[in-house]
Amino acid sequence: MKRTFSGVKPTGHLTLGNYLGAVRRWAEVDQHESDALFSVVDLHALTVEHDPARVRRLSRQAATILLAAGLDPERCTVFVQSHVDEHARLSYLLECTATDGEMRRMIQYKEKGARARAAGESVRLSLLTYPVLMAADILAYATDEVPVGDDQAQHVELTRDLAVRFNQRYGHVFTVPKATHPQVAARVMDLQDPTSKMGKSNDSGGGIVYLLDEPEVIRRKIMRAVTDSGQDVEYDREGRPGVANLLEILAACENGNPKALAGVYQSYGALKKDTAEAVVELLRPLRERHAQLAADPGFVDEVLRAGAARARGLARPLVDRAYEAIGL
Ligand code: ADP
Repeated sequence: MKRTFSGVKPTGHLTLGNYLGAVRRWAEVDQHESDALFSVVDLHALTVEHDPARVRRLSRQAATILLAAGLDPERCTVFVQSHVDEHARLSYLLECTATDGEMRRMIQYKEKGARARAAGESVRLSLLTYPVLMAADILAYATDEVPVGDDQAQHVELTRDLAVRFNQRYGHVFTVPKATHPQVAARVMDLQDPTSKMGKSNDSGGGIVYLLDEPEVIRRKIMRAVTDSGQDVEYDREGRPGVANLLEILAACENGNPKALAGVYQSYGALKKDTAEAVVELLRPLRERHAQLAADPGFVDEVLRAGAARARGLARPLVDRAYEAIGL
């Protein structure tokens, strides 16, 4: 059976982008069709300014949301990255096969680094090496497929390069993984700035739908989404990014096609209204299950404990082999 690995960073509350780009498929497809591991990748949350208590709280909240979204601990492994030492252990070895030039070319590093500098903050070295730790997350489990939104495509490409390079130089240790992306909504855009990605840690003020937002809040955010001054509903990601984003979101909710949906609407108002209702309905079961799970923290703890134990058991022998192959 093929192996799947993916993760989510506890740097903020999970968003509609995380759900449509990744988490929904983990629950609907990957946990049924593969041996799947899903991790709250908390070490990655330390790459930017962070508050320790908040990271801990958000990690638990992210794990609870993953379960509420339908990840079933009987079918897949859910765990917190820092509970499994092998990620950091393998990351160092991979740092010894990657180059600084490769890291500096990463789009996410360029963008986040520039943002930090503009805010007068220093850039943590771990922000530069982040993609290597992500490669370790993936390679430690002999992963075949990495289901992610398309913002992560470049990092998975790098992971492939590092795996191939290590295997050629030190002997075959790693499976070379490939990224998979959803057909629709692989990159959900910010509702207030539809030229940038809806990302949980860059709140633009009303442009992000959080998975635990109240229905009224979701409706308000979508009704106020930035479009353009045109009238016709057209699917044009370049020319009309705001409208195209709404069409993608609605299509994802209805398992439809954004281009075909464009023909159905005569006004932006009607499109927004239907999109808002579709999102509220899509997220309703998740909100309800989240409330039940939040009332039972012992259950979440037990899932994470068992998940880490299984993950450790899989990663340990593989990372040991890598240590041996590289000469340690
Ligand atoms: P964020 O950018 O919100 O911090 P993460 O790095 O935690 O996201 O990513 C978790 C998963 O969600 C990844 O697979 C990522 O590709 C996906 N993802 C994040 N934002 C979006 C988005 N706006 N649209 C589609 N997928 C997304």
